Amino acid sequence: MPAQRIAILGATGSIGASTLDIVARHPERFSVFALTAHNNLERLFAQCVAFRPEVVVVADGQRASRMQARLRDAGLPIRVSHGPTALCEVARDAACDTVVAAIVGAAGLKPTLAAARAGKKILFANKEALVMSGALLMQTAARAGARLLPVDSEHNAIFQCYPEQARLRGGAIRLILTASGGPFLNRPLETFDTITPDEACAHPRWSMGRKISVDSATMMNKGLEVIEAHWLFAMPAERIDVVMHPQSIVHSMVAYADQSVLAQMGNPDMRIPIAHALAYPERIDSGVAPLDLTISGGLTFMPPDLARFPCLKLVLEVVRGGRGAVALNAANEVAVAAFLNGRLGFRGIPEVVEAVLERLPEPEFSDLDHILEADRRARKAAEEAVEGHPPRRAA
Ligand code: NAD
Ligand code: MG
Repeated sequence: MPAQRIAILGATGSIGASTLDIVARHPERFSVFALTAHNNLERLFAQCVAFRPEVVVVADGQRASRMQARLRDAGLPIRVSHGPTALCEVARDAACDTVVAAIVGAAGLKPTLAAARAGKKILFANKEALVMSGALLMQTAARAGARLLPVDSEHNAIFQCYPEQARLRGGAIRLILTASGGPFLNRPLETFDTITPDEACAHPRWSMGRKISVDSATMMNKGLEVIEAHWLFAMPAERIDVVMHPQSIVHSMVAYADQSVLAQMGNPDMRIPIAHALAYPERIDSGVAPLDLTISGGLTFMPPDLARFPCLKLVLEVVRGGRGAVALNAANEVAVAAFLNGRLGFRGIPEVVEAVLERLPEPEFSDLDHILEADRRARKAAEEAVEGHPPRRAA
């Protein structure tokens, strides 16, 4: 069988690195066609040495020249290109079979759409793209015969418990997304004003990029995942539940009409869903340690506390009303970036998002120009809202 040729968009990130870890374990199955990175050139260069892609894409011309020189000096014949258009070209290139959509945020939307239009197998991690463009991305993929294989652990779990054949027959009545609750599940609420970026990024179970780590701490991540599940599995948002499960062993569940509930379990390591999606429908070694339930200390489940996590409440209102997902995502990206660089306190994140949603009560959009316009409007409104908010209080 010829090797699966892979383009990894966002190769230097957490998902990108986990994907390459699996690729390295199965050199006979996978070959790397392209790697892309925004700015971590050191890491990208090391990946080039190890995986010998045909193409790399970096953010801009200056970085591209530097990268080109380093690769030439190292004797590596790798083509270097740069910018958003190059990302789309790589995503639709006939020389690749599989595109790993692992760029963080709205920047991943166009390349993911390009991969969908070209009918690729897409390992889908970039949830912000789907939140922004649900109907458009799903329709584009369906028309072109592209397959979206979910890599987000919850959605991969649901995919495993609710396979495509079962989806055709119907019968699943609820999706149950589990949530760890992140680092602040039990932190006293009166100390939330002093939360630092490093505290927010210190997730107790998962090691991830900084943006999604903050989203996990606010639980905006779970909200975005409800929207993601709604589109991936064509399930009305009212039939998607969120359940707290601090151990992160049960990755999500599917309830059927007869009240059977199927769950997928595993250690919290993204290499499991990535290996599943890479090899699907086969199974391969992911490098993850076996699950030992006897040392897990028990599995617990509880309802989410919406007062502690107002972001989750906001998203549920948005998604259940079928409105404003583009503004929600854009405002959150701006607010999280402002929090990470010290311009906004932790509590300010839901406040900025709410202010933008109130100012821009928009419907869902199904064409790209309208989506991008709404994204720009919401970013501007969010920047203004950040200005009016206090930065973090000293502890
Ligand atoms: P990360 O910050 O670790 O990596 C992001 C990657 O995107 C990097 O390679 C970076 O260079 C690239 N990038 C950033 N901005 C870019 C831009 N403007 N243009 C082009 N490339 C850009 O993020 P991550 O944790 O790997 O997450 C990636 C995506 O996967 C996110 O959408 C996240 O929600 C999703 N996801 C991540 C995890 C996880 O465990 N890390 C789990 C589920 C879903
Ligand atoms: Mg997840």
